[in-house]
This record gives sequence, structure tokens and C-alpha cells, in this order.
Amino acid sequence: MNVKTLISSAVIFSVLTVSSVTAVQAASDDSVTVYSSRKEHLIKPLFEAFTKDTGIKVDYLTGKGGALIERLKLEGDNTQADMFMTVDAGNLWYTGSQGLFQSVQTETLKSNIPAHLRDPNGLWTGLSVRARTIVYSTERVDPADLSTYADLSTDKWKGKLCLRTSKKIYTKSLAASVIYNHGEDKAGDIISGWVDNLAATPNAKDSHVMNAILAGQCDVGLVNTYYYGRLIAKNPNAPLKLFWANQDTTGVHVNVSGAGVTKHASNAAGATKLLEYLSSAKAQAIYGSLNKEYPANQNVASDDVVSAWGSFKQDKMNLSQAGILQADAVKLMQLKGYR
Ligand code: FE
Repeated sequence: MNVKTLISSAVIFSVLTVSSVTAVQAASDDSVTVYSSRKEHLIKPLFEAFTKDTGIKVDYLTGKGGALIERLKLEGDNTQADMFMTVDAGNLWYTGSQGLFQSVQTETLKSNIPAHLRDPNGLWTGLSVRARTIVYSTERVDPADLSTYADLSTDKWKGKLCLRTSKKIYTKSLAASVIYNHGEDKAGDIISGWVDNLAATPNAKDSHVMNAILAGQCDVGLVNTYYYGRLIAKNPNAPLKLFWANQDTTGVHVNVSGAGVTKHASNAAGATKLLEYLSSAKAQAIYGSLNKEYPANQNVASDDVVSAWGSFKQDKMNLSQAGILQADAVKLMQLKGYR
């Protein structure tokens, strides 16, 4: 580890947890080093399976996504990282836009992961799918009244809607998809209608949105389904259900957690192997069940708990649009008073 790396490590040491089979700085030539904003319990079983099957060791370091991206920038070509993993296409796109990924387009990745879940230039690949859809009170809402994200902007939901803050990347990506599907003008009307319908100031977390519905503060909201999964695991009788939005139109807004091979990887071949492994049927089955997400590989069945929520049509917008339209989405939400 050189001086530059040491300095950058020190700067953000407080937010990073180094967790690896061996220390990151002692990575051997054929091992792969991963920086990950996904938590250790979600990635460790996958890396262990990869090592067992290939003999290639994985060293990893977890931390906040933003801090890891800054670290990659500071480390430049001295970085130890061969791969960066994070959540949300908006974050993956940003990493790519900063020149921190290299293009990897292999036949294995193309056949395992559908095109809309991968960067068109091969900079990153989606590895798990999260659906952001409507959650509603089964006590106060007739699901026959639900239909689309746009419908939540109409008068019938006045004072009945709870939403997560516009500062969260999930909201930015959703707003980007509304712009992509409806155009800027109509998207502005939809966002403005949402704001008019809010029962309360936007919530800090998806779990708070559901708690607000349970407390009777509002009747409907938008959440990533794995948060619903966590709540129902703790409280199986909670009077809440998921509704698949936009089934007669564009489909449910989905997003990914994913990864890319870093621009300055010293072991790009090993990192590519790991990326392909993570897209394989074996790894995808583990991946989906760990966080109650959906496999990105469409040939792999969802975990039983997740399957019980029913199947749905996904929005096929290429997720690079979540990044390309992110600045427009932020501007539009500001303009319409979505805090
Ligand atoms: Fe999340």
C-alpha cells in the first residue's frame, strides 16, 4: 500500500469496515478485491461459494457507497479494488460516468442478465432486482381503486399518500422513470399531484412509509418490496399489501444492485470471472433469497417468500436512464416542491 492509498484510507477510515479472508493490502496476485456498499452478510456467502468453486480468493471492504466512490477516485490507478458493488442504477451509472469502471461485455453476462438491467456500454451489470411499487392498507383501500404511479397523483388520493424523501436515490430513479415514460411535462404534473396528495412530509425511510400507513396517517405509499418483506417477517398479520403498479402500461419500476470491474483493476480477468459467477443460476438463487430481492437472471426462480407476493410485469426501461435522467429528475422534484 503506498502513501496515496494510506492517506485516502485514513480520510474515510471511520465509515469503512475492512472484512476479508486476508487483509486488503495483502491481496495476492490472483485474488480479487471488491469494494462493496452492500453489507457483509449479503455478499460473504456469495464470495465464499465463488472461492470454493474456483479457488480464487476474494478480499472485500464494505462501506457507504458515496465514500467508496470517493475512495476509488482518490486512489486512481493505485487502487486495490478490482470490482465495485453498490445498489441502485443511479449510483452505478454515476460511478461509470466518473470513469471508474471498465467495459466488460461477455457472452455469459449477456445470456444471464437481460439487457435492460445492464449498462449498454458494459460498464456495470445488475445482479439483483428490486421492485418499487405500491403498498396499501388492506383496511382502508380497495385494490380495485389502484392502478398506476400516475394515478396516485389524482384527487382520489388527496391526503392519503405517503412517500419517501426525494433525496433518496430510489426516489430519484423512480422520478427518472416517470420522465422517461411520460415526458417531462406530464412527469411534472404527476410529481406535483403526488406532492398535493401527501398526508405528511416525505418519510426518511421506506419502513417509515409503511409504519405511517399502519398508524392510519395515510393509506398508500411506494416502497421497495424487500422492506415489505422485512416488515411482514416481523409482523405477519400487518394489514398491508403490495400492489403491482402499471401492469396494463409500462410495468413496475425496477432497479438493481449491481457491480462493475474497476477501471484500474489489477486483476480484471478475475473480477470478470467473479461478475460472471454472480450472474450464474447458482449465485443468483443465493443472492435473491438473502435480501428478499428478485434474481436478475430470469431463468432463476424467486425465493418462496418473494414468489408468494405474485408475479408482475417489469418496466423494461434500460436502467442507465435512471442515471442519464437523474439531474432532470432532481430539478423537476425541486420545482414541484417534492422535498
Ligand atoms: Fe434499500
